[in-house]
Amino acid sequence: MDWQHVKSREMEYFQFNWKQVTCLYSTKHGNAAFVETFRPVMLKQVHSDTIVDTDVPHRGIGDGLITHTPGIHLGIRVADCLPVYLFNKERVCIIHCGWRGIINGIAQRAARFMDTYVYTLGASIGACCYEIQEDVAQVFETAYGSAVVPRGDKYFLDLKKAVQQDLGIKPLVSSLDFCTKCHPEYFYSFRGGDREARNYAVITSSTAGTTKGLPEETACRTPRQLTFR
Ligand SMILES: [Zn+2]
Repeated sequence: MDWQHVKSREMEYFQFNWKQVTCLYSTKHGNAAFVETFRPVMLKQVHSDTIVDTDVPHRGIGDGLITHTPGIHLGIRVADCLPVYLFNKERVCIIHCGWRGIINGIAQRAARFMDTYVYTLGASIGACCYEIQEDVAQVFETAYGSAVVPRGDKYFLDLKKAVQQDLGIKPLVSSLDFCTKCHPEYFYSFRGGDREARNYAVITSSTAGTTKGLPEETACRTPRQLTFR
């Protein structure tokens, strides 16, 4: 079971199914139709570790969404950053993982909220293309060792490897392994020159959760200020 390429007249997208859960990732083809069709709940994203419980009132700011309500589509916008879809029988969660979000701890936070889970990874910029500055590389080398790939006098970051260190290898059930910069035929890429346009990552579950409430509060928090670029 892996990600499938879905083509209809209006749009093309990638889809991964796991029991009652559906994970989607848009392409350039029918990008607007994708949003109109699935109508995901989305947030103002700020590279934080804030995960919003959409089942309770919230301010609409953060980089992750979680719900136990069936039929709700949770969405995030990405153009090179990595969308991570986590799910279990009771909840679905989707998080926006760039280097800032990962260092801020969003993946670890999602793991705590979900407790037991499996997850899949969407497309993101790959270690082939994701050059990072030396100061960022140093931070990642300390926290995520092998996620930093040195080549010549440059440093590249493997976002998927870093997230796998936070979430574990065992619960990883699939990965949409395209580099968004290397595949402009499908995806928008910020590093590839797309300044405004975004790809959409969406998760939904068709069945209801059996428990309510989360183990800790998910109110919006001010993202930790980072001093490097
Ligand atoms: Zn690439």
